[in-house]
Amino acid sequence: MQNNQQKAAVETDIPVFKIPEFKVRVVNALANEEVRNNFRVAMNGLMSRRLDMFPDTEELENLRTKCMGIRANSLTKLPDLLQQLEKNCTANGIQVHWAETCEQANHIVLDIMKKHDAKMMVKGKSMVSEEMGMNHFMEDHGIEWLESDLGEYILQLAEEPPSHIVMPTIHKNRKQIAKLFFEKFPEIPYTEDVDELTKTAREVLRDKFYSAPVGISGVNFAVAETGTLCLVENEGNGRMSTTAPPVHIAVTGIEKVVEKLVDVPPLYSILTRSATAQPVTTYFNMISSPRKNGEKDGPKEVHLVLLDNGRSSIYSDPELLETLRCIRCSACINHCPVYVRIGGHAYGTTYPGPIGTIFEPQKSGLEIHGELTQASSLCGACSEVCPVKIPIADIINRLRYEGIRQDKSTTKGSGSRRKTSEALIWKAWALAHKKPGMYRFGTKMAARMRGLIPSKLGPWTSVRKAPKLAPQTLHELMKNRVSKQNTGKN
Ligand code: SF4
Repeated sequence: MQNNQQKAAVETDIPVFKIPEFKVRVVNALANEEVRNNFRVAMNGLMSRRLDMFPDTEELENLRTKCMGIRANSLTKLPDLLQQLEKNCTANGIQVHWAETCEQANHIVLDIMKKHDAKMMVKGKSMVSEEMGMNHFMEDHGIEWLESDLGEYILQLAEEPPSHIVMPTIHKNRKQIAKLFFEKFPEIPYTEDVDELTKTAREVLRDKFYSAPVGISGVNFAVAETGTLCLVENEGNGRMSTTAPPVHIAVTGIEKVVEKLVDVPPLYSILTRSATAQPVTTYFNMISSPRKNGEKDGPKEVHLVLLDNGRSSIYSDPELLETLRCIRCSACINHCPVYVRIGGHAYGTTYPGPIGTIFEPQKSGLEIHGELTQASSLCGACSEVCPVKIPIADIINRLRYEGIRQDKSTTKGSGSRRKTSEALIWKAWALAHKKPGMYRFGTKMAARMRGLIPSKLGPWTSVRKAPKLAPQTLHELMKNRVSKQNTGKN
């Protein structure tokens, strides 16, 4: 039986033993012209709309600096702020749970479901729930789940993971979605009208909001000072998921905490403008407690699950912890020349694009996702647009080094990508450059034996010609030129 990698390799005629799975996915993605067009059109639109949102570059820079400071301050005080968040949430009646791993987080959610004899959950958009693999876990335990964000609902119908952290169905165009709806709801006439398609989804979702015993959501900012959970959204499904069911469970990473309520407006302003080019989103929810006596709506129980999943390990490195400043706006993704060509699925991770390139290998280990660090041209567009000034390109470089370093560091999987043959080549290269005599001899020999250099140099030459060494070294050329000039003068 073939595994996924082998199947993909057969489709692309690539020898499977040589190509890691990521490269196969990339080759397949590049071969899919429709998906590439969908991404190109969507990203061009997002980039130009974001530009329009920040007409004043000075204001943008000031806001970026301010937001970077807010996030850096939160991280500096992270252990204390988390304790303060727990204390204030608990005082507000929100039950706080800590999970070191995704499995623990899933079990916490499952236990709450079991306690309420709940067999169904309705979900607002949450990338952390994707990270946890919550849907599959719940399915395995007999729990029905329903995504209520329109994009996520479309993916649930298509049985696909998101390809973008803010717009999960960005890889699909209107025709593809219309076809999918017609396949899933054959009783409804085929339409490509967006309003009609939305209406169909809304009709399915409405009833579920009222009948679901548990609602799940993510968190954009958790305010330590007040124990408030902030949720940014456009469809109102987040508000429905967190207010209509009697139990609300919010899941989030431990890095999402901010110190004070006044920290939220600047972050919110730069988040919405960077993400979807909106001055504000349609909904901004602040959840501070379960339903109080005398209130007519709201859940009777609110739970907050704080997930670590490798974040503490990232936090322990003073340079790499900058990764945790991320507010998940997706601007780096939208501006990435690699992402726009290969799309989100090729990364094979929850978080694609530049943020995925730095977050995923640190979270799961370089031995698992280290190859993602190669999915960058280091052009720096991501660092330039990041609203909290994460030096993404520098972190990619650092992770490349972590992958091949000889000694071990606190980064998960450090040294796991080191190849003895490559290390030897670089050692020889360094030695040759330190000793001029050796350098001259080496380049001379290489020039003399240029005919023996193979025309295929691994994957590098699969899309380009191998360079041919010049018949003479630079030193020889210069020497000849000088001696010709001297002869001419004489
Ligand atoms: S790394 Fe920066 S640009 Fe990318 S998603 Fe995070 S905050 Fe946005």
